[in-house]
Amino acid sequence: MRALSTSLAVAALFALAACETSPKTDSTAVLAPSAQDYSQLMADLNTLAADDMQGRDTGSEGGAKARQYIVERLDALGVGPSSMGRLQPWSAQGRSPDGPKTFNGTNILGLIPGTRVSDKYIVVTAHYDHVGTRDGHVYNGADDNASGVATMLELAKRLKENPPEHSVLIVALDGEERGLLGAKEFVEAPPVPLSSISLNINFDMTARANVDGYIWVTGTYQHPYFRPLLEPIPANGSIRLAFGKDSPDDKGSDNWVFASDHGMFHRAGLPFLYFGVNFHEDYHKPSDDVDRIDPAVFQSSTELAIESFRRIDAWLDK
Ligand SMILES: [Zn+2]
Repeated sequence: MRALSTSLAVAALFALAACETSPKTDSTAVLAPSAQDYSQLMADLNTLAADDMQGRDTGSEGGAKARQYIVERLDALGVGPSSMGRLQPWSAQGRSPDGPKTFNGTNILGLIPGTRVSDKYIVVTAHYDHVGTRDGHVYNGADDNASGVATMLELAKRLKENPPEHSVLIVALDGEERGLLGAKEFVEAPPVPLSSISLNINFDMTARANVDGYIWVTGTYQHPYFRPLLEPIPANGSIRLAFGKDSPDDKGSDNWVFASDHGMFHRAGLPFLYFGVNFHEDYHKPSDDVDRIDPAVFQSSTELAIESFRRIDAWLDK
């Protein structure tokens, strides 16, 4: 969308230059389309990370409230359900501070048909659950992962305005914090054959990129053909893409191959790319709040994620 806006602006400037009698005020009108409106992106972040969502724990009232909001947003965007419907409920054993426990979760599914390869799917995921409340504290999970869901909804908005070449499944996953449970359910009971999934793109923690200036892309060690596509993407504001956290040299918590839902796609043999920021002081703390997020940084990260999607979508399956 940024590329399109730029070319529109350039075309309009040429048109303006060719027409000497154009009033001067037209030049401001010409530049207007390149400015993105981020009010919805910020509203989605704020709503999902608000106290009344109670930390969005899987199976909780707050989780159900977050789900209702995301469903309403997909409906408002005109993103239809998948072939198996809007919701994918599941029950699975997962981890909790009190030991293993059965969780009842629900994934949310949306479908945006593609224009070039409609029988192949890019599955975009972001988990909407977080860890709930503990000891009277609400863990709002603004970065983890209200941000990734908001980025995914912004991508969905742009794809409705300017359709993708592949069909795209927009999937808000539940139960990530309990052991990637929703992603496991998705790959075990997918709404489309696994063989028709070209790629999983997972957004988890897309806001706090100012911790080191990067939105990290994990998975190009496993799938190196994506790197020449993404490496030329210029910085957006103060943020740029970085690649890594995926090689055998990346040890422990510095290796993110199975750190979020994309790990289940990888385990199922599907290509994946994960977009997320580095660890920060509020990671998995009650202080992971919206007021710690710099809107300009979040907007830059989101633009880099969307631009990455566009380049991959245009290249894959050619
Ligand atoms: Zn997360």
